Amino acid sequence: MVERQLRRRGITDKRVLAAMGEIPRELFIAEEERHRTYNDEPVAIGHGQTISQPYMTALMAQSLELRGAESVLEVGAGSGYHAAVLGALAARVVAIELIPELAGQARRNLEAAGRAGNVRIIAGDGSLGFAECAPYDAISVAAGAPGIPAALLEQLNDPGHLVIPVGDRDEQELHIVTKRAGALSTRTSTACRFVPLRGGEGWR
Ligand code: SAM
Repeated sequence: MVERQLRRRGITDKRVLAAMGEIPRELFIAEEERHRTYNDEPVAIGHGQTISQPYMTALMAQSLELRGAESVLEVGAGSGYHAAVLGALAARVVAIELIPELAGQARRNLEAAGRAGNVRIIAGDGSLGFAECAPYDAISVAAGAPGIPAALLEQLNDPGHLVIPVGDRDEQELHIVTKRAGALSTRTSTACRFVPLRGGEGWR
């Protein structure tokens, strides 16, 4: 996976490559789908949701330019895998998941993988962020949004990076927002397909 799907496609951040080489992705996928663990595609995790394609997780993690001391917010914890990767790259992670059963599963998966130490899973609406632990040096949104939620921009530290797929329900573009010296700048990366971000600042 690391060689064929990540390095060959231009993922260069050595810490991202190492984290994704070390974290046992199979522990975040249910028994019946486990044979797909290292496939180059999203995999079902129940409740109509998916664990993202490995390349997309790597690209999003790389775009945050994490160095190890950061506080990170993930919106859309799903299986907890992406949160585990972020936990290996930063000091602490708060990951929010809207579906309570998935939040519980993500907690169990992180425990089983020995990655729960600096990752806190919260059940709730992450489109509103999680003000209690803000500001965040980096925010990663793993669901497709109709726009960039104002709450997330407010909770982003200065300097800080936010990565989020923005577009319609079926197709989005990955947006990378940087806050620096009080100003926001946005660049777009690749086209992508995420499940919809729901909740107060997501799709109704
Ligand atoms: N990052 C996950 C992983 O590594 O398994 C995959 C995330 S999956 C593509 C998107 C997740 O976002 C789903 O589990 C979905 O329930 C969740 N979601 C959608 N809207 C949300 C919201 N407003 N707040 C929190 N989670 C949300």
